Amino acid sequence: MSIFILMFLLLLHSSSSSSSVLPEPPPKIPTVCIVGAGIGGSSVSHFLRTYSSPNPNLNFKIRIFERNGVVGGRTATMNIAGDTFEAGGSILHPKNLHALSYSKLLNLTVNDPSSSSSIGIWDGKKFLFKTLSAKSKLPFVEKIISLVNSVRIFLRYGVSILKMESFVQSAVGRFSKYYESFESRPIFETVDAMLEWAGLYNLTTSTLRLELDDAGLSPLLIQELVTVITRINYGQNVSMSGLAGAVSLAGSGGGLWSIKGGNWQMAAGLINRSDVALHLHEEIESISFLEEYYELNSTEGKSYVCEVAVVATPLDELNIQFIPPVSIPKRKLQHTHTTFVRGLLNPVYFGLNVVSEIPELVGTIEDPDIPFSSISVLKQHDEKNMTYKVFSRQPMDDALLDSVFSARTETIRINWGAYPHYNAPEVFAPFILDGLHLYYVNAFENAASTMETSAVSAENIARLILSRFFGQVPLSTANTTFSSVGGEGLHVDL
Ligand SMILES: Cc1cc2nc3c(=O)[nH]c(=O)nc-3n(C[C@H](O)[C@H](O)[C@H](O)COP(=O)(O)OP(=O)(O)OC[C@H]3O[C@@H](n4cnc5c(N)ncnc54)[C@H](O)[C@@H]3O)c2cc1C
Repeated sequence: MSIFILMFLLLLHSSSSSSSVLPEPPPKIPTVCIVGAGIGGSSVSHFLRTYSSPNPNLNFKIRIFERNGVVGGRTATMNIAGDTFEAGGSILHPKNLHALSYSKLLNLTVNDPSSSSSIGIWDGKKFLFKTLSAKSKLPFVEKIISLVNSVRIFLRYGVSILKMESFVQSAVGRFSKYYESFESRPIFETVDAMLEWAGLYNLTTSTLRLELDDAGLSPLLIQELVTVITRINYGQNVSMSGLAGAVSLAGSGGGLWSIKGGNWQMAAGLINRSDVALHLHEEIESISFLEEYYELNSTEGKSYVCEVAVVATPLDELNIQFIPPVSIPKRKLQHTHTTFVRGLLNPVYFGLNVVSEIPELVGTIEDPDIPFSSISVLKQHDEKNMTYKVFSRQPMDDALLDSVFSARTETIRINWGAYPHYNAPEVFAPFILDGLHLYYVNAFENAASTMETSAVSAENIARLILSRFFGQVPLSTANTTFSSVGGEGLHVDL
């Protein structure tokens, strides 16, 4: 072999061996994939970022998948003739501390708690009870009417009304334990453990009716006002489980609030500030565990590799395919039909002479012949033109609407798979669906379904991920600010 060929071969060898010493690839950043961009999914991303922010070594990517073209899920607004109204989750409680902290963090404007609407309890033939409208431009008039209403409520239901308040306060007080600092608040691996720790579990094992009987409420109050409230807030009656019932009653107290322009802005704002890759119009159809990671496949024909997967939507009416399969208790969703009507109620339907005699909120007792759960005035444009929201368990067809309303210029219908149909004793799905890193935020919905309960569950899931996957235990809740706004009195506000 000539010396030149030998040198050429040596050169070739040295160059090929130098190319095999490539620089180390950068370490792969794990990905957390979240299915659902409602308040639950967005809260998971928010708490993951917030609680991991003091640790510069904790680097991960977040992807959120949303089948719709907008975020917010069951918090959505509806536009009717230029006005915006909440179509799903509408009211927040003064002690919903996560929602309050979101509104501050995101600089969102909060609607002042509105003055009390007049309430009427309709039994299908007549109003069993009515309060007066406290809406007045003069604050002292509002105060006097509100006082008169309290007296009227007291005269009808007696001390039972105070017992109801104390039942609700006790449940709200226990729920507030979920805002305690990490020093005293564990990370919960199951819904049962989370409820037991706060002293709320027992309320999920019996019905609201039994709980209220035990609390000494009169049958009249349970049959009327309590039923009216549970039908409005959950489309169900007092056979529902006690905890969801207590949450429903808490949603009828004073100081209720909402976000101006729509509560969906909380989800949007949290996603915006959490460094998330948001995949709108991308429905996840399968989640497969492939030894070291999950593969999420979307209806767009795309695949995503994720070390952690979070389901932040109720699985009950979905066909996401899990490989291997996961097991969750069967749960029926309560469908609530929300019908917006611009027009005018028909006083004749209510046995009255003029529309002004119809209360601003018509609530109903449990009677299969009553075709709606509630009708409330959202806005009075003028004497003959109002916007109403009707809740019903079945769709309101045109013939029915034409008997309830004397005029209709616009009608919009939404069929929500709204919340679980509550059945005591409740059985809870696992937070950790496969014992590994596949999590389920909406397992907590069987306790109660609200924007805040989704946020509370999401916060626990974020802590579970940080401790179980990243081996990090967040040290303090310092980055979240909790505060509350006051407000007392009894009124249902939708
Ligand atoms: C009519 C009505 C009135 C209500 N009133 C109140 C109230 O006054 N106050 C209150 O606090 N709560 C209320 N609630 C309940 C509250 O709205 C819900 O509990 C809360 O918004 C649930 O949030 P979430 O993020 O857990 O679920 P969702 O808001 O349902 O979010 C889940 C998201 O996942 C998406 N998704 C589902 N499947 C897939 C998939 N395969 N791939 C990708 N994306 C998917 C959905 O499109 C949705 O956006 C009400 C609900 C309804 C329907």
